[in-house]
Amino acid sequence: MQKKRITKMGIKKNDTVMILTGKAKGKQGKVLSVDYKNGRITVEGINLVKKAVRKSQQYPQGGIIDYEAPVNITNANILCPKCNKKTRIAKKILDNGNHVRICRRCNEIIDKV
Ligand SMILES: [Zn+2]
Repeated sequence: MQKKRITKMGIKKNDTVMILTGKAKGKQGKVLSVDYKNGRITVEGINLVKKAVRKSQQYPQGGIIDYEAPVNITNANILCPKCNKKTRIAKKILDNGNHVRICRRCNEIIDKV
């Protein structure tokens, strides 16, 4: 049996993604964290929910805070920082041995892996 690969789009922390479905459809944000195991990501400013918190070191006032709830990774599409369009990521090995991610749309190198 084949394992399902959720990392198909190669989304990583600090990538900019666009949300494809739901309330936040069409919005863009920076990826704050990726949970490959559950296929979920949290995106800055996307899917904000309110949560009551107790007083703690992190929240000295306690009370109600907004925080980003995770969204399904398949509901987000990576945005290429070079051509600024929704794209898919390809991986490539350069002549110098570096692994890079490239944009399938404009073929520009996005970053090193
Ligand atoms: Zn591109």
